[in-house]
Formats: sequence, structure tokens, C-alpha cells
Amino acid sequence: MNEQVLGILMRIAHPESDKNIVALGMVEALNVTPERISFSLRFGKPRDPFASAIKRQCEQALRQEFPGRAVEVALLFAEAQPMQPAAKRPATHTPAAPKNIRYTVAVMSGKGGVGKSTIAANLSISLAQRGYRVGLIDADIYGPSIPKMFGVEDAKPLLNGQEKIIPVEKYAVKVLSIGFFVKPGDPLIWRAPMATSALKQLLLQAEWGELDFLLIDMPPGTGDIHLTLLQELKLTGVVVVSTPQQVALADALKGINMLSSANIKTRILGVVENMAWFTPAELPQNRYYIFGKEGGRQLAHDRQLALLGEIPIVQSICDSGDSGTPAALSDGLPKAAFDTLTENLLEQLNMA
Ligand code: ADP
Repeated sequence: MNEQVLGILMRIAHPESDKNIVALGMVEALNVTPERISFSLRFGKPRDPFASAIKRQCEQALRQEFPGRAVEVALLFAEAQPMQPAAKRPATHTPAAPKNIRYTVAVMSGKGGVGKSTIAANLSISLAQRGYRVGLIDADIYGPSIPKMFGVEDAKPLLNGQEKIIPVEKYAVKVLSIGFFVKPGDPLIWRAPMATSALKQLLLQAEWGELDFLLIDMPPGTGDIHLTLLQELKLTGVVVVSTPQQVALADALKGINMLSSANIKTRILGVVENMAWFTPAELPQNRYYIFGKEGGRQLAHDRQLALLGEIPIVQSICDSGDSGTPAALSDGLPKAAFDTLTENLLEQLNMA
């Protein structure tokens, strides 16, 4: 199937070259499933005037050949786009992030149980579906739930020849979790001091290869561990997750204040309002505001942050997380909400 897709893409040339886009090595991370075809087109310059036209040509050719299948083409350029003012431009290479990782984004929440891991898991899959090369670190020392959400609880990551940890790959996402290395019964007192060193190890001593995104599912809260992690990691930015409930919003605000403080100054990419309303599967138009209405939207507005997404409470989000097949994998209401979140995040990074 991959060959068939590549065969079609070989008919498309870059106008500045007489070679086709496959021969030019522009097609990356091709992923073909019965539902969708996704890949990235890599361009050698920061802005290629032919990028949109080539993307459109690819989409048209593939949709014609594979009707009914979704086609997703991500555009990758040689450097971060110079459209933002210099001061706002995200740092792509930071001291504590390996050079092979373009954007390191932490997913944080003030309060536990608001859906931080659910957002991190689905966001990582949604980015991978767009053809980006994605890694996900589960650094939630209090309750590492990413292995369960990806159905890889029993995985034992191996070491390569250079003693680097090889991430476990599932749904085109490279996953490493503190849960792979800490036994569920280990007391918390051992875990907290381990968090910083373990996370740095997962970040720096793993075989990530080239990544466009490395997402970090952080431990909930705004304590000392977070301060240390944020000071040492120097991230591209942070996504803050909250429910619209007042207690969750108050804790999210503490987190935002911490991130904005002078000694951290980490860019906040935006707020995700999770559990924004309840929608029963049989009545997709109905919205019941169980935890309050638009609290996350208001928080984003008050702090002049982007509202990246509003994710409803849907039973399938919970069920699919428990069964190791996150909701972003299958079509429907939750996937659409995660798609919007992903597009908004890409826009914040000037990649849309
Ligand atoms: P956290 O990482 O913040 O502790 P989790 O992502 O583990 O939170 O989510 C807590 C629980 O809520 C999980 O059982 C998860 O499946 C469920 N959940 C999270 N978001 C949603 C949602 N939008 N709809 C339904 N269930 C959700």
C-alpha cells in the first residue's frame, strides 16, 4: 500500500527541480491505514512558495485514487518560520533539549484528575496523524497512566548499543514512561527526588531520533518538583489543562502565575478546557455544563492566552483511554475536538 501511495506521489514534481517529490526525499513519515493517509512534506528552505500548491496536488491525487480515505499532509520547513516577532519566537534548540528535537511541549495542570494525560495522549496521536514525528514522555510520577492509555503497560524498553533507552512505539508515537521504571507499589517519597533526574534521563538519554514534537505529561501541581523541572528543561512552551470547575481553575491559575514568574518565564502556548460540557452519544447536539460554563475560556481571556481547545466529557474518551486506544484514533465527536486543539497548537507555533 505504501508503494502504491509513493507511486502516485512520484508523479508530482517540485517546479524548481525536474525531480519528483519522492526522489527529492521530501516525503517523510508516511502512514497508510484503511481510513487515512498521512505524511509530511519537508522543504529545504524556511518558506517555500510552492509548498501549498504541492500539498494541494498531493491531496487531490491521493483523494482521487483513494476516495473516502482522509488525506493529511503536514508541511515542514527548514527552520522555524520567521513570521512572529523575534521576542515571541519559540526557542527550537534549548540547552536541556537535544538538538534532534524541534519542539518540546509540556502538558501541565494545577489539579490532578482534570484529564492532563488524556489530552497529552490524544494530542500526540493527533500530531502523528498529521505526519509529524512525535515522542511522548510520561513524567507523572504520582500516576503514570500513559502506558495504559497506549496499551503498553507490559512493555520493557530495551537499551541500544550506546546504552540509550529505546522508546516503545505505538500509533506512530514514541512513548517512554516513568511507569516503565517505577513499580506501582514504590512509595511516593522515593519517586519525588527521582522525578527530575529520571525525566532528564528520559529526555536526554533515550534514542528519540529526529522528532518534530516531544510532549511531556508532567506531574499535576505547581510544587518544587515543577519548579526544578521547568528551570532545568527550558521548554518550547507549556499547554495548561483545566476543567471549568472553580477549584481546578484556581490551581491552573497558580500554575500560570508560576510559569510567568521571573525565574521561569516559560512560554504558555494556551489553555485547554477539558470536560467543558457533557454530551450524551445519542444526543450529540445537547450540552450539559456539569462543571460550570466556559471557565477555561474565561481564564484564557483574563490572562490573554490562547484557548487551544474545549474538549467535552464523552464516555468514549474515558473508555478508549482505559482500553489502550485513545479517542483521537477513531472518527467522531472527540476526534474532532482533539483535531481543533491540534490545529490551534500548530497555529501558536506558526506551523498551521
Ligand atoms: P490527569 O492526567 O489530569 O490525572 P487523566 O487524563 O488521567 O487525568 O483523566 C482522569 C480520568 O478522566 C480518566 O479516567 C480519563 O479517562 C477521564 N477523562 C479525561 N478527560 C475526559 C473527557 N473529556 N471525557 C470523559 N472522560 C475523561
